[in-house]
Amino acid sequence: MSEATTVAVPRAENCVKGAPYRIVSRETHAEFRGNQRTREVSIGGVTVGGARPVVIAGPCAVEGFDQTLAIARACQAAGADMLRGGAFKPRTSPYDFQGLGRAGLEILAAAREETGLPIVTEALDPRDVAEVAEVADCIQIGARSMQNFALLREVGQAGLPVLLKRHWAATLSEWLCAAEYIAVEGNLDIVLCERGIRSFTAGSYNRSTLDLNVIDALRRETFLPVFVDPSHGTGDDRIVPGASLAGIASGAHGLIIEVIAEATDKETPLCDGEQSIRPAVLRKIIEDVQSWVRTSSRGRR
Ligand code: PEP
Ligand code: MN
Repeated sequence: MSEATTVAVPRAENCVKGAPYRIVSRETHAEFRGNQRTREVSIGGVTVGGARPVVIAGPCAVEGFDQTLAIARACQAAGADMLRGGAFKPRTSPYDFQGLGRAGLEILAAAREETGLPIVTEALDPRDVAEVAEVADCIQIGARSMQNFALLREVGQAGLPVLLKRHWAATLSEWLCAAEYIAVEGNLDIVLCERGIRSFTAGSYNRSTLDLNVIDALRRETFLPVFVDPSHGTGDDRIVPGASLAGIASGAHGLIIEVIAEATDKETPLCDGEQSIRPAVLRKIIEDVQSWVRTSSRGRR
């Protein structure tokens, strides 16, 4: 077998039955065993996993220069810490907008240049990881890609933090196994993101059921920071403010939220307009989160 086709790690002699994930397990590391400490991850100079919740905000998809720059400026003014936006979009239908690709990455680079906000953007295909890594401060792995093991190994080698979203049908163990694929490549800068699971309510009053119970369970099981995505987790901008606060109150270290410009009609975006909030709402969420953290005991955790 050639070098290129050899699966890296773990090698057969390292395999352990009954230990589906090890590196990302709290139990494995003396400094995290039996406590609630989180291993902090630095994304473009922003500390994730500390006492201060971090907010990533921006459009679902990069649809154009003016659209992205306007939203980036508004998110920054509202107090967001990082900019999100997909250049490569994982769409359920092949006929839906698939993203601007490389042109979208260039727009994100321009948005960072102007606002200084670190960029979180998705890689969909192992062949695109190097190109995404040239612009991203953190590579997002979307829910649909959570078990794309070739992609997980590739981002594990990219030398950048990874935001790993949970598939809507993944158990906690399957999710942490996906994180382990990144970790075995030598990258522990992983941030987990709960983005809603599939339940019988889908399509009635929401798109997903935000599984807030998993946050505390994860924090007991791993030292990796945990985020909540109230946008995909609800599918409805009216539920996003409450879900954001509930996520932080449940122990999440941060939020990733979809935003549209103040004057944009909800029908205008090619992707996820119905669940995107406006900048004024984002500002209020950030203020409420900060005030909740100040007055709760969470900051001491
Ligand atoms: C997104 O963040 O725009 C996205 C596609 O999310 P998910 O992978 O959670 O569906
Ligand atoms: Mn989206």
